[in-house]
Amino acid sequence: MRQTRHFNGLSEAEQERLVILVEECGEVIQAASKILRHGYESTNPKAITPEDELPETNRSALERELGDLGHAVRRMEAEADLNPLAITARAASKPERIRPYLHHQPEPWKSGKPEA
Ligand SMILES: [Mg+2]
Repeated sequence: MRQTRHFNGLSEAEQERLVILVEECGEVIQAASKILRHGYESTNPKAITPEDELPETNRSALERELGDLGHAVRRMEAEADLNPLAITARAASKPERIRPYLHHQPEPWKSGKPEA
């Protein structure tokens, strides 16, 4: 069978990293949706939990998936798929860009992180 190079020009490794990113984004969306439906402290009644462990809350599930997403981003940065400085600059400018569209957030916004 004749093989052709895909028009996107991605290597298999680049494609794999993008799929990981997409999957983790989907898992973050699912975890956030569970919180909207059932609350932060709700747990999945059908989840199988070892006897000596508490069931995972929706808050913990979102934290887990955000950690997974962070890993996916850092992997892409490490492989030079993405420029971490561009991501950091975008994050730094977001508070001002989003300010006109917020209705319920405190002002001034405190990131909880020390100033750079
Ligand atoms: Mg995950």
